Amino acid sequence: MELENKVAIITGGARGIGYAIAQKLADEGANIAICDVNEQTLSEAEKELSKTGRKVLALKVDVTNSKSVQEFIDQVIEKLGKIDILVNNAGITKDTLIMRMDEAQWDSVINVNLKGVFNCTKAVIKPMMKQRYGKIINIASIIGQIGNPGQVNYAASKGGVIALTKTVAKEVASRNINVNALAPGFIQTAMTDVLSEDVKNSMLKLIPLGKLGTADNIADAVVFFASEKSSYITGQVLRVCGGMVT
Ligand code: NDP
Repeated sequence: MELENKVAIITGGARGIGYAIAQKLADEGANIAICDVNEQTLSEAEKELSKTGRKVLALKVDVTNSKSVQEFIDQVIEKLGKIDILVNNAGITKDTLIMRMDEAQWDSVINVNLKGVFNCTKAVIKPMMKQRYGKIINIASIIGQIGNPGQVNYAASKGGVIALTKTVAKEVASRNINVNALAPGFIQTAMTDVLSEDVKNSMLKLIPLGKLGTADNIADAVVFFASEKSSYITGQVLRVCGGMVT
């Protein structure tokens, strides 16, 4: 096991990609703390993750609220002893063309996807610096690199996450903290299930590997960034997109 006795936090860990990440990190031996906004999916996830035999903490926390995030981090340290790994995964979409997008749609996506990453990263950085060890993995998107019509808020938020990743990596490298981002392509989750068959079929034509990715594909890459196998890699963005962007 790669992550025996490590403590990992996964935001938005109750379902989708976040849950798959929590499950794989637990399978690799890590104790797990997840936060999310939906109490029902949180308690279902907590029950399933506990079957791994690892310690599991599941708390209702909105990543946009810096005070709640700080209280969450304090609780993780109190109950699980330390924080080794932070996976900033919580994210939302509110898609429409810029000409129709209102301020609330812009603000909510930037707040969850970008400010949420800032809040959680800021809250873990001091304990990680003190212990001179940490792995921060941010779930961005290829849309943050290539843009996409109808997603100006989402693309800007994910582009911001990539810039944040590179900057924080440089700020904390001397303290043995690695900060990297993943840029998934189209992954089969609730976020993409809402797309019409027509949209999905046209997306498939753009993917050289000829299929949507799975949440496990992303979780496998997270395990790599959370492990010592990536210890000389920081400030990087790894695309997990079936070859869609090269
Ligand atoms: P899901 O919508 O399936 O899961 C996201 C999770 O985050 C949900 O549990 C959601 O709660 C939670 N969440 C939403 N807002 C907050 C908040 N303010 N605070 C805490 N938790 C919150 O999405 P995916 O699993 O598909 O996506 C996970 C990440 O991967 C996102 O950052 C997304 O942008 C990124 N990504 C996804 C791709 C895809 O194709 N699916 C492609 C590229 C990137 P609730 O259940 O209430 O919605």
